[in-house]
Amino acid sequence: MLGWQRATQALGVRWREKTLPRAARVSYAIPQVRGGIALTFDDGPDSRFTPELLDILAGAGAVATFFVVGRRAVKQPSIVRRMLDEGHVLGSHTWSHRDPRTASAWELLQEYRDGRRAVEDIVGKEVPLFRPPMGHIGLKSVIAMRLARVRPWMWNCDPGDWRPGVSRDEIVRTVGAAKAGTVVLLHDGIELPLAAGALDRTETIAAVRMVIKAADLRGLRFTTLPASGVYGNSREPRRYIR
Ligand SMILES: [Zn+2]
Repeated sequence: MLGWQRATQALGVRWREKTLPRAARVSYAIPQVRGGIALTFDDGPDSRFTPELLDILAGAGAVATFFVVGRRAVKQPSIVRRMLDEGHVLGSHTWSHRDPRTASAWELLQEYRDGRRAVEDIVGKEVPLFRPPMGHIGLKSVIAMRLARVRPWMWNCDPGDWRPGVSRDEIVRTVGAAKAGTVVLLHDGIELPLAAGALDRTETIAAVRMVIKAADLRGLRFTTLPASGVYGNSREPRRYIR
């Protein structure tokens, strides 16, 4: 009996961790070439914090990937265009960042499709790169992602900058240990905050400043995820710092 339980449990884990992500064509890391790490920022743009972050990246000649929320992007189209103009890569992060656990497959499809279209309307080109809120991969979201024809990209390093009260030093400690091939999850805005304090992105911004300096010392370079959501041609990964 126990053996049977263990077998079904193992099948369940395989389904959640292997089969579903494969069905959705999810990516997590980047190739470990030339010491590249990819900083990715979710939940923006935020009129208070994103411009400052873009200034820091521009000052260091560093590039990043931004997964923007559709309803925020349409309110700040100039920030979204600036991202692209300064060499960053754009992905969508749904229309309104609805909690995927309480939405139907149809509602998720609308969220994913509307979020993608909002960004595409602003920049005038296709934006297939996508990240589901909370990194949620379930049967409903997998169906919705396939139908919305988005290419999901997760992360393999989460310094937890979404937690209220996290300090810049904690963020830097985690990111500072990153090796080539790492995709780092950060937030220039916050949707569904656990507490109001998380809306203040000061610690993340400060941490990025420190991480850029530290990366320089360790010989790490910053790269973007491929805009297409797939490594399809030899020019990608591209745009390394220096
Ligand atoms: Zn998010």
